[in-house]
Amino acid sequence: MRIPKIVILGAGYGGLITAVRLQKMVGVNEAEIVLVNKNDYHYETTWLHEASAGTLHHDRVRYDVDSVIDRHKIEFVQGTVVEVNKEEKKVILEQGEVTYDYLVIALGAEPETFGIKGLKEFAFGITNINSARQLREHIEYQFATYNFEEEKKDERLTIVVGGAGFTGIEFLGELSNRIPELCKEYDVDFNKVRVICVEAAPTVLPGFDPELVNYAVATLERRGVEFMIGTAIKECTPEGIIVAKGENELLEIKAGTVVWAAGVRGHSVIEKSGFEAMRGRVKVQPDLRVPGFNDIFIIGDCSLIINEEINRPYPPTAQIAMQQGEVAARNIVALVRGKEEMESFVPDIKGTVCSLGEDDAIGVVYGKKLTGGKASFMKKVIDNRALFMVGGAGLVLKKGKFNVL
Ligand code: FAD
Ligand code: NAD
Repeated sequence: MRIPKIVILGAGYGGLITAVRLQKMVGVNEAEIVLVNKNDYHYETTWLHEASAGTLHHDRVRYDVDSVIDRHKIEFVQGTVVEVNKEEKKVILEQGEVTYDYLVIALGAEPETFGIKGLKEFAFGITNINSARQLREHIEYQFATYNFEEEKKDERLTIVVGGAGFTGIEFLGELSNRIPELCKEYDVDFNKVRVICVEAAPTVLPGFDPELVNYAVATLERRGVEFMIGTAIKECTPEGIIVAKGENELLEIKAGTVVWAAGVRGHSVIEKSGFEAMRGRVKVQPDLRVPGFNDIFIIGDCSLIINEEINRPYPPTAQIAMQQGEVAARNIVALVRGKEEMESFVPDIKGTVCSLGEDDAIGVVYGKKLTGGKASFMKKVIDNRALFMVGGAGLVLKKGKFNVL
């Protein structure tokens, strides 16, 4: 008798948790499990701001998929997903095709550029290992080149960060710690460097606790970061950005580096495959399946679930992606075993911690506000916990963060 084939797309937080839970729960005679990922490694998306600023080497941020899966139970396919053919139940890869009986889509997010001119061409993103490596190298190149040129161009040393959401602020935390090191390394006067954060909303970290926001802004300003609040980026050019100030005023800011950290959307494969989506995110049923497709689960940043208390979507987070992975795995096991009752996904939000660099952070954990060393300690505990959930104590020892106060 043919056994069902479970295919998981993406070895990020959601996909990898689904895979490692399924490998424990499903017998080899019960189902075939295939994990598809673009690279042979997993990267911690939540650490990419560190690799991008150059405060943590990108190899610290990633590990081999092989090191956490059991190859006797899971077939790993290194491939790039192009499209899902729902009717023929197959996944089109750049390198071929994979058929499925049950599919889990966990391909993560892509930057949301809102159609703003020049962003795709001239701005850097904080999206994956390649983008992180490129951004770190580019910033270093600007510093290395500054003293090399006869006619010094100070704008080389201006870095604009678009968006003061969690990604923008965490990147600024790392960058503002890295700049003094770069100045020393390349004999650059610290006063020549400008780091400008441009945020369209009237506040940094819109919606977050105002007291913690003030703490973050004061900390980053002390390290030299300038904030332009209530200012939207309208265009990115090879020379910098154009922003809207007030009603009709446009202002050019010349910068050697522009980083776009102003939001994400679900992976483009979602829309390309014809799923009904809002900004690339599919509103899934409580059991995490796609309405009308009982064989397809969508989790993580490609999924959309509503917080009924405020009637708005939950923000896409690793916390939710991992919790969804656990539920998706249990529901697939039920399907494989012929059970009809599905578990509903209920997010268990433990809190949010936003890093401000190596030893500082802000956060709310189980309703309690934290700042400074305590918040930073908590952030490392969260980072290590994610490793533990996938690869146990061994992975924590290999990749974990232990430089606590
Ligand atoms: P991901 O973990 O991003 O994984 C997607 C996987 O799919 C990757 O392995 C990728 O290589 C693979 N893939 C992509 N395209 C293809 C393709 N075409 N074919 C095959 N494979 C492909 N959330 C928190 O809860 N806490 C935090 O502290 C936090 N910090 C963050 C910091 C930063 C800098 C960023 C950018 C995000 C942060 N987030 C945080 C959000 C969090 O990272 C995401 O919500 C989470 O990664 C989503 O998990 P996922 O499984 O959907 O996608
Ligand atoms: P976001 O959507 O949370 O923030 C983007 C910010 O960019 C917003 O403040 C928005 O007002 C601003 N913006 C949008 N368009 C702009 C424009 N044209 N000019 C200037 N500013 C503009 O996106 P994010 O920070 O990338 O976060 C993505 C997801 O990842 C969120 O769900 C977030 O919660 C999660 N995340 C969590 C953490 C954490 O928990 N520590 C860290 C990073 C990301």
